[in-house]
Amino acid sequence: MKKEEWESLCSNCGLCCHEKVVSEDMLLIDLSNPCEFYDSENKCCSVYEERFKKCHRCKKVNLFRAMFASYLPSICGYVRWAKEHHVRLCKEKECVLGNGVFDFVDD
Ligand code: SF4
Ligand code: SF4
Repeated sequence: MKKEEWESLCSNCGLCCHEKVVSEDMLLIDLSNPCEFYDSENKCCSVYEERFKKCHRCKKVNLFRAMFASYLPSICGYVRWAKEHHVRLCKEKECVLGNGVFDFVDD
């Protein structure tokens, strides 16, 4: 797959740009705690081209992470792609908190 095709899998949900905790099989995402570079109004990264230099916590989603990273939510475009291709190997429960939203996903 070409780089542009891979990048286009991101649906810009922004969930990976918020504080999260992974505990055993549970993923907890706090929508009230975005990354300092997350532009909540426009729902995008304000330093996208330099994100890995500016933010040491920012991680590129590669195939390995799409397959195994437990901090990525089930609605992540990369996770969905990995599931469609039967290469997503971990299962997790999810809870999204903050901004009046409380959503629980049992995957
Ligand atoms: S630096 Fe990374 S984690 Fe922070 S908003 Fe940009 S893409 Fe998201
Ligand atoms: S969770 Fe996945 S789809 Fe959502 S912004 Fe992050 S990489 Fe993109």
